[in-house]
Amino acid sequence: MIDLRSDTVTRPTPAMQAAMQAAELGDDVLGDDPTVLALEETIAEHLGKEAGLFTPSGTMANQLAIRSICEPGDELIAHRDSHVIHYETGGPAALSGCMIAPQDGAGGIFGPEAVRNSIRPDDHHAAVSRMVVVENTHNKGGGTVWSIPGFESVAAEAHERGLHVHVDGARLFNASTAGGYEARDFVAQSDSVSVCFSKALGAPVGSALVGSRRMIDRARRFRKMFGGTMRQSGLLAGAALHAIQHHVDRLVEDHENARTLAGALADIPGIRLDVPPGETPTNMVFFHLELEDLDAPAFCAALRAHEVGMIAMGPNRVRAVTHLDVDKDDVLKAAAAAKRVCSAHAHGRPAPGDTSTR
Ligand SMILES: *Cc1c(COP(=O)(O)O)cnc(C)c1O
Repeated sequence: MIDLRSDTVTRPTPAMQAAMQAAELGDDVLGDDPTVLALEETIAEHLGKEAGLFTPSGTMANQLAIRSICEPGDELIAHRDSHVIHYETGGPAALSGCMIAPQDGAGGIFGPEAVRNSIRPDDHHAAVSRMVVVENTHNKGGGTVWSIPGFESVAAEAHERGLHVHVDGARLFNASTAGGYEARDFVAQSDSVSVCFSKALGAPVGSALVGSRRMIDRARRFRKMFGGTMRQSGLLAGAALHAIQHHVDRLVEDHENARTLAGALADIPGIRLDVPPGETPTNMVFFHLELEDLDAPAFCAALRAHEVGMIAMGPNRVRAVTHLDVDKDDVLKAAAAAKRVCSAHAHGRPAPGDTSTR
């Protein structure tokens, strides 16, 4: 199967498996797994922050950031399409008792005026505005990339009013690759950052939260409380260290393959790309289906019969993501399968060579 549902589907490469096997292990609950400690130090240093914390998932990294900073009744400011709102199971409400002030803006990007207008007055009637979350790349926004000046204007506005600035950088290295900047330069004006090793970087499991020593000490307590502190987790941290060392520079290939895929999909009647193929920002291609009676879930199910995976991200919106385990040939095959599905539908009968619908 050519699996473009997400960049989370990658299997560890043989070299990564060797790194995992070679990792020195301890007990991270007791605080002495050397590989986990090395990963935490490495990622913190890499992003220019004091301390780091290894977490089982990006969701937990984000939720630990929120729980470490916010009190029940506080409010956080985030784009209305953000991962913390859509895909973390109501975590801010359930785990931290937070309200959210959702922001508008094309591609998941908003400006300082949105923050200014959302910060509540210092008045006992109002929730305390405590935190801003910026997602880079922005997933639901289309894999879009924040610019450094765009982010810094938002961070400056937040800091002026005493708010904490968190970057949800699940795909921060895709952003830095496409944006032509260093990840650490992008996050210089942030207070905390979460990054995923299990997305485009190709590790099987794991994310990290980085920030001040004080914040990470607090997050470490909550990680234990949430059940996310693991034992011989150096096995996983070894994969993450390998990913940082070997899988960042190659992200440019994923972005090229995404543009190739977008170019091939652009020619298919019934498919309308969200952005022109040359403007595919990172490793994600989003498109809308414009065929009667073929919605996104039905399209994805039909595609699955051709051994191609894509994911429905709305009634008519589909997402395809390139990654370490697919190459140019795969994305062209995937586009050919999409064409067969669309043309079979347009003609109301199976396309030549299509056995899947018989
Ligand atoms: C994937 C993702 C996360 C974390 O997801 P997990 O599956 O919990 O690791 C966080 N933020 C964004 C933007 C993501 O795409």
